[in-house]
Amino acid sequence: MKSIVIKISNPFLKLVRDNLRALILSAINDKKGKLYNRRKNLLFNEKGVKILVSDLGPQDLALYEELGEEWWELERRLRRSILLCPLCNSTRKNMVYNPKEDAWFCVECNSRFP
Ligand SMILES: [Zn+2]
Repeated sequence: MKSIVIKISNPFLKLVRDNLRALILSAINDKKGKLYNRRKNLLFNEKGVKILVSDLGPQDLALYEELGEEWWELERRLRRSILLCPLCNSTRKNMVYNPKEDAWFCVECNSRFP
């Protein structure tokens, strides 16, 4: 598979692209934050005392691991998406799909690959 470059030079279209990326990133970060908080709350009992992961019951431990995996799945998909460059974290640049890495990078960062 060849590299795919998506270049937008029209300032209005850049603004639309950047705002769409920001909107989607905000929704993803909101979802990740909820997963993180649900996971963190499992580590406190009803009195607010911290519980070690090793002291969680089987159901809570399974839920703790499931929430962590769901969080990481979102993160992995985000890092491979066109929403941001995984190397420089820019959300406002033209992007290139790098088939070797199976991820999108900004044009500048992608040029560093051999
Ligand atoms: Zn970059």
